[in-house]
Amino acid sequence: MPPRQWKLWSLPPTALGYVIAVDAVALVITVLAVRASVIGGPITSAEWTAFAVLAVASTLHLESARGIERRREMAANTSPHTNLKCLWFFASLLLLPLSLVIPLVVLSYLYSWFRVFGRTIAHRKIFSNSTCILASAAAAAVLRGGGLLTEPRVPTDFWSLLVVLAAAATWWLVNYALVVGAILISSPEAKAKDALGELSHQLVICAGLGLGIAIAALQSSYPWVVPVLMVTVLALHRDLLLPQYQRAAGVDVKTGLATPSYWANAVPLELARAESLRSSVGLLMLDLDKFKEINDTYGHPAGDRALRAVGESVRAEVRQGDLVARVGGDELAVLLPGASEVEVLEVAERIRDRLSALTVSVETVANRTAIISGVPASFGAAVYPDVAGTMDQLILAADNALLTAKRGGRNQIVSARPNPPVDHQPIDN
Ligand code: GH3
Ligand code: MG
Repeated sequence: MPPRQWKLWSLPPTALGYVIAVDAVALVITVLAVRASVIGGPITSAEWTAFAVLAVASTLHLESARGIERRREMAANTSPHTNLKCLWFFASLLLLPLSLVIPLVVLSYLYSWFRVFGRTIAHRKIFSNSTCILASAAAAAVLRGGGLLTEPRVPTDFWSLLVVLAAAATWWLVNYALVVGAILISSPEAKAKDALGELSHQLVICAGLGLGIAIAALQSSYPWVVPVLMVTVLALHRDLLLPQYQRAAGVDVKTGLATPSYWANAVPLELARAESLRSSVGLLMLDLDKFKEINDTYGHPAGDRALRAVGESVRAEVRQGDLVARVGGDELAVLLPGASEVEVLEVAERIRDRLSALTVSVETVANRTAIISGVPASFGAAVYPDVAGTMDQLILAADNALLTAKRGGRNQIVSARPNPPVDHQPIDN
C-alpha cells in the first residue's frame, strides 16, 4: 500500500504524534543498541546459539497457538491485547545483549504479522513491536543498574532475585502504560476501565515474565530441560488458558455481552452441570419493546448506544456467575445457574424496573444531544428442569413466554408453565 494511503494518517493528530514518537524512540534505541554491541566486541557463538534456540522456540510457540491468538486479537477491540510472547522476550533479556533481544522481538512480530494476525492494521503492530522494544530497553537498564552486567542474568541470590523481579515489573509497566496511553489517546470515547482491560489479562503477562525467568535459568544451566518446559508452556497455553481465551473471544463488540455462539456452547454445559448437581438453571429471554422507534427517532448510532446501556444495566442486575448474551438484534438472554422460578422472576422484575428507568444520553443524526428515557423490554422466563429437560425445549418455552408477554401488551414478564402431565383418562367400558 502506498504510504499516502496508510491507515496511520487517519489517526487524530495527538494519537498520530504519540504513535510516531514511540516508534521513533524505539528506532533510536535499536540503533544505539547495535552501536553499543559493535563497540563492545563481537557477539559470541554461545550468544548466537542462545538466540537461535529462543527464536525457534518462540516461533514454534506462536505457530502452535496461532488460531486462538487470532481470535483473541480480534476480540480485544479497545482493551489491551495481551499474550505470552513476552516470555521469550524476557528470557532473551536475561541471556542476550539488547542488540540481540531487539531482533528477537522484531522477528516475533514479523512472524505474527504473516502467520497470526494477518490483514490487520500495520501501524498497530509496529507500535506493539515498539512498546516491547522500549519495555525491553527499560528492563535491561534496570538489570544493568542492579549490577547484573554479564549473562546469564538469572537470580543466584536474594539481591539478584530482587533485581530480576524489578526488571520484570519494569517491562510490564512500560509496555502496559504505553499501550493504555495509546488506547486512551486514539479512542477518547473508550472508558478508562476498558482501556485498562481485565486484571486476568495482565496476569497472562506476569505468567509470561515468570516463565521467561525459568526458561533463561534452565537454558543457562540445563539446556536439555528447555524442551520439557516448552511442552508445558504449550499445553498450558492451549488447555489452561483456552477457556479464558474463549470467554474473551465470545464477546459481542457492540454490547460487551456474550455472542450467540458462545451462548450456544455455554447452555448445554450449564444444563449438564445442573443435571449432575441435581440443581436448576433459570433462563430469561428479553426483547426490547419498539426498539425500532428509537432507531427511527434518534438514528442507528443512538440505538447502538442504547443497546450498550441496556447490556450494562442487565449485567448490573445479575450475579457474577450468570451469563448475559446478545442472541439477536435487540434480544438478550440471561442464564442463571442454580436459580429457581421465584429467583428468575425477581431478577426479571429488577431488570424490567431498571430498563424502564434507564436514561441514555445520545448524539442524534442532527448532531444534537438527546436523552432517551426508558428502554422497556418484554420478558419470557423458563426454568430447567421444571419446565423443560433439554436446551431446545427450554429456549422454546422461554421464547413462547416472551411472545405471550409481547402479545399481552409488552413491558411485562411471563413465566413458562411446565407442560401438564399427559392425562391418562380411565377407559370406560
Ligand atoms: P417489538 O420487539 O416490541 O415487537 O418491536 P421492535 O421495534 O423492537 O421490533 P423487533 O424486536 O422485531 O426488531 C428489532 C429492531 O431492533 C430492528 C432494528 O431496527 C433494531 N436493531 C437490531 N439490531 C440492531 C443494532 O445492532 N443496532 C441498532 N441500533 N438497532 C438494531
Ligand atoms: Mg424488539
